[in-house]
Amino acid sequence: MLRVGIGYDSHRFIEGRPLVLGGVTIPFDKGLIGHSDADALLHAVGDAILGAIGASDIGTQFPDTDPAYQGISSIVLLREIKRLAEHEGYRIVGVDAVVITEQPKLAPYIAEMKTNIAQVLELDRNRVGIKAKTNERMGFIGKEEGVVAMAVVTVWDRRNDGQ
Ligand code: MG
Repeated sequence: MLRVGIGYDSHRFIEGRPLVLGGVTIPFDKGLIGHSDADALLHAVGDAILGAIGASDIGTQFPDTDPAYQGISSIVLLREIKRLAEHEGYRIVGVDAVVITEQPKLAPYIAEMKTNIAQVLELDRNRVGIKAKTNERMGFIGKEEGVVAMAVVTVWDRRNDGQ
């Protein structure tokens, strides 16, 4: 049986931190605030996986009060989430995601983001979609206050094959 999950995340820009999205460190004069590396894209993908398998969300799995996760690469968190999904009897089938930020332009980094996500989730690259959008200068994204990411993930429920 195929199941679907949705994920959303946002993080605020701040000076003095690296900007990490999709596991790629992107040259920019600001980074994102967060307990981990604040990779909003990987957090949205992780939450979509957790949603698809009916598990509690990423903030519950990896609490921001736990020093173990301070500054941690979200690649590590995504790998843990994949492990959990497989342990629960699911196979990740595909990912589609949108990252919305006014600056910087993300187009040059999309291919590397796809490669990173495909590697962690052990998917062919053509099963990972990532779109970079601006918000046409509207709202908090338009004012360059932060970044939003959204993701949809499909998983196959191995326990219910054929249903
Ligand atoms: Mg987050």
